[in-house]
Amino acid sequence: MADKRVAESFSSKNAENGAAPPRKKLMKTDRQAGLTPMEELKEKADRFGLDLIGDSFAKKMDELDHLAPLRKEFILPKMNELPDVDLSLVDKDDECIYFCGNSLGLQPKGLKLYLDAELEKWGKVGVHGHFTGQIPWAFCDEVLAADMSNIIGCKEDELAIMNGLTVNLHLLLMSFYQPTKKRHKILIESKAFPSDHYAVESHIRLNGYDPATSLICVEPRKGEYDLRTEDVLSMIEKEGDSIAVILLGALQYYTGQLFNMPVITKAGHTKGCYVGFDLAHAVGNVELHLHDWEVDFAVFCTYKYLNSGAGSHGGAFLHSKLAQSMEPKLVGWWGHKFKSRFQMNNELELSPGIAGYRISNPSIFATCPLRASLDVFRMTSMAELRAKSMVLTGYLDYLLGHHFGKNSAHRKSKEFITILTPSNPEDRGAQLSLYFSIPIKRIHSEMTKRGIVCDERKPNVIRIAPAPLYCNYMDVWRFMDALQTIMDIAENQPDLDSELD
Ligand SMILES: *Cc1c(COP(=O)(O)O)cnc(C)c1O
Repeated sequence: MADKRVAESFSSKNAENGAAPPRKKLMKTDRQAGLTPMEELKEKADRFGLDLIGDSFAKKMDELDHLAPLRKEFILPKMNELPDVDLSLVDKDDECIYFCGNSLGLQPKGLKLYLDAELEKWGKVGVHGHFTGQIPWAFCDEVLAADMSNIIGCKEDELAIMNGLTVNLHLLLMSFYQPTKKRHKILIESKAFPSDHYAVESHIRLNGYDPATSLICVEPRKGEYDLRTEDVLSMIEKEGDSIAVILLGALQYYTGQLFNMPVITKAGHTKGCYVGFDLAHAVGNVELHLHDWEVDFAVFCTYKYLNSGAGSHGGAFLHSKLAQSMEPKLVGWWGHKFKSRFQMNNELELSPGIAGYRISNPSIFATCPLRASLDVFRMTSMAELRAKSMVLTGYLDYLLGHHFGKNSAHRKSKEFITILTPSNPEDRGAQLSLYFSIPIKRIHSEMTKRGIVCDERKPNVIRIAPAPLYCNYMDVWRFMDALQTIMDIAENQPDLDSELD
């Protein structure tokens, strides 16, 4: 970003003090090239003479996983620490099964050191902390840019860490949504995350248009759960001339579908539309190359797969090709170029690009957790994490199909589970969204009793996300083992109260 050089000179000067604990970069896996995740699982099962569905296979996979040490970098809640766990069913000292990193990532162990250091610094030097110490507070967002740019695939000055996701979306829509009589529509996915939906509608109204005629929602075909890329493209082809902005959740939060971002971006541009993505569920989960894909803008939060803690700063991306051209925007002092920001003469010298969208000074306390988490990401790469994730989620997918698939010969339960998420590993991230043939209230509460942490979407959907940074194969196996008992209970014990709350 514009002030990066300044931030760098501070952090390199202080790096000698060695505040960040040294961490070794992990080795790459000796993966056989060209195998699909399922083929890789089968190849390993054959090679070691193990049955894919047994726990010995899961243990072997964990042994072989060169990313397994990353789990130790996070605090995994113990069974007896979680609310509503029944300690007669589980071992109180066991780690829970945490499949909710799509909603809130776990706490990086390195965080406490960082927070303590900042509290001490504040106590000792007060206002001097802005420009002194290992992380001068005035640059606490900028020192994260290098690591963040590797995760979203952009140049350092194409991203800013600031605000929350929805606030960033508002700030960027302010520039990108400039409706005219001819081009006034915004295209989103049906079932977009409510916050995105509201943000978009509010911009349409603020500009004097009506969502009834200016908002287009692309929907899956009847009887399908996921959007076909071809349907998105044909909507763009048909409506593109009247669309100002295309805004999709890069990875759909409900179904877990990963959209084909480069293809959709290109199609939008062909029709003269701006194309932006909400990366809430994609960042830290799948590989992203926002710069090369020529995405115009993107917004993200950092508390899901990036483990920065509830309500931490989010981020935004603006492609460098637009660095000089996006107006109007809402402006504050933090968008003013560093070199003259503190002259306070009310003559705005705005930083180019996304740095010019920064309004307030960043919170040191909201950036410490992200810094601790990015330290862990730096031990590997998104490519390596994604490779593990595809196999881990593929394993979950396989076991679910084996034990609970509607057409599985091995299914012992009367009820079955349908996976809403695309079956092609390229079209999804870590998460699978499970649709149960019975209401999930009882199922979810039985999961909770057994220390399985996951997210429910009533009446029938449970989202399961084995985040590759800290989840392992035994987590998946333990989950499947418990799920067989749970399905049995749910089938035989009707819910005591109404399902419809
Ligand atoms: C989690 C999530 C958000 C959250 O928005 P905040 O502004 O960070 O509260 C927004 N959009 C999507 C798609 C999400 O999944």
